Amino acid sequence: MAASDFIRDIIDEDIKSGKHKAVTTRFPPEPNGYLHIGHAKSVCLNFGIARQYGGVCHLRFDDTNPSREDVEYVDSIQEDVRWLGFDWADKLFYASDYFEKIHDYAVELIRRGKAYVCDLSTEEIRKSRGSFTEPGKESPYRGRSVEENLDLFKRMRAGEFPDGSRVLRAKIDMASPNMNLRDPVLYRIKKASHHRTGDKWCIYPMYDFAHPISDAIEGITHSICTLEFEDHRPLYDWTLAEGPSPCRPRQIEFARLNLTYTLMSKRKLLDLVEQKLVSGWDDPRLPTLRGLRRRGCTPEAIREFCGRIGVTKFNSFTELELLENCLRDDLNKRALRYMAVLKPLKVVLDNYPEGKVEELDAINNPEDPSTGTRKVPFSRTLYIEADDFREVPPPKFHRLSPGREVRLRYGYLIKCVGAVKDSSGNVVELRCACDLGSRGGSPADGRKVKATLHWVCAERSLPAEVRLYDRLLLTLQPQDEDFRKCLNPKSLEALKDCRVEPALAQLKPGTTCQFERQGYFCADSVDSKPGALVFNRTVTLRDTWAKLEAQAKR
Ligand code: ATP
Ligand code: MG
Repeated sequence: MAASDFIRDIIDEDIKSGKHKAVTTRFPPEPNGYLHIGHAKSVCLNFGIARQYGGVCHLRFDDTNPSREDVEYVDSIQEDVRWLGFDWADKLFYASDYFEKIHDYAVELIRRGKAYVCDLSTEEIRKSRGSFTEPGKESPYRGRSVEENLDLFKRMRAGEFPDGSRVLRAKIDMASPNMNLRDPVLYRIKKASHHRTGDKWCIYPMYDFAHPISDAIEGITHSICTLEFEDHRPLYDWTLAEGPSPCRPRQIEFARLNLTYTLMSKRKLLDLVEQKLVSGWDDPRLPTLRGLRRRGCTPEAIREFCGRIGVTKFNSFTELELLENCLRDDLNKRALRYMAVLKPLKVVLDNYPEGKVEELDAINNPEDPSTGTRKVPFSRTLYIEADDFREVPPPKFHRLSPGREVRLRYGYLIKCVGAVKDSSGNVVELRCACDLGSRGGSPADGRKVKATLHWVCAERSLPAEVRLYDRLLLTLQPQDEDFRKCLNPKSLEALKDCRVEPALAQLKPGTTCQFERQGYFCADSVDSKPGALVFNRTVTLRDTWAKLEAQAKR
């Protein structure tokens, strides 16, 4: 069960006092982009609370702005919420389903002298709104009669006036210390086709008006949103208090998730996609749920992350490393181990019989013995990681170098007896002697070696491309204007000549495994094909950035 927090405390109180018997929450995305890890925080919170209290969480599309919305987003959002592990049963709603009711609500406000049609332009309304220190100016149209307002609003709906020429405003208080109560706009004219209602409407309600009414219609008990809506709460409450609704949902605000080195706003993510600075909404470098999923991130890790960050009232930045650590913890338990060589260096075992192939037993996951073992082919010619050999080993380098002996994982002890170079002096092949009595990794005389290397059989291994991902941004918290300049030019490094053990041909795309000693990788769900395998690095084995940064500080 999730740890308690101030929102759960409020709900406990409401249940104890008898204010509510059951809890109903909602997750209200606007279908104008793909969900990202910030939305996941809200999904886990709203669905998590419903689950914990035996209530329900509705999925409601806040589709009140037709110009930016699309069914592509409606579909992807549903898939992504399900992928995260949550279910809304039959509680799928659209604010657009309530357009008629919201409209009637507005008409009722006009009848009671609580709303009026205003002919000021957007710019004039903005200017007359005043500031934190100055009250606003009342609109010259504020005194219109109920009859005139009803007539004008009806004609707005009928499409008689051009976009932007008139709006419906609430008549509240132009001198209110809360700017949101200075006669806020409730309806605007927008002659745009809506992805659900088509051309039925040419006036659309503002979010601040549609949201409380939608909450009330659905009987939401706790309407949980992010902190920037705190100042909108009086308008939320005003709307409900003025209306006929018997249900009074309570709005509660919490701090949104901000992640270091990550862009989260849908506007900016859309910009990266449209400018083709990334490959799409599912680019593995993006914090979208699609991107994280394609990268190999698991829903379990995201849920764990959302649990660990908790819920507070204070805006702050969460370190990307926390998400990576949740991912490592999850994958360590579950990911099957394989061997893959990212930068191959050929090794020939001089004394190993030519043409012989042995099938060695390898452990699938030492953390989970139930996963058993598999066979890995071993032969005279192998590949090891180029980085695991140094002709002149620096101090503390215990891996392979001339005259040095190491263990090959699950295989034999080998000793380097020579290095073959090309015409420019690069080492292109190692000649090694194999201790044929050390199969499984233990020499007969019990002598010790200091390193164990991963390897693959040259003949039986498969070619693969491996994509190494790094942080999307170079900057911890980029400023609004310059976010494109903050992109990390090295956020993707594609290694095209990798070799992987044959069993990896069977890894289902989208499944994350461990490449021993290298990190966690998943077969790319878009580009990986039989005969042309592509793997994405999900996360390194350890937090290499922390290490590098610690070194830099020393
Ligand atoms: P963005 O600012 O990225 O465009 P948004 O708030 O406009 O996002 P919505 O579709 O309106 O996107 O969000 C749906 C729900 O997810 C809202 O309740 C919103 O408060 C919540 N949400 C969005 N971003 C975050 C975040 N970074 N952390 C927590 N909750 C978030
Ligand atoms: Mg929003």
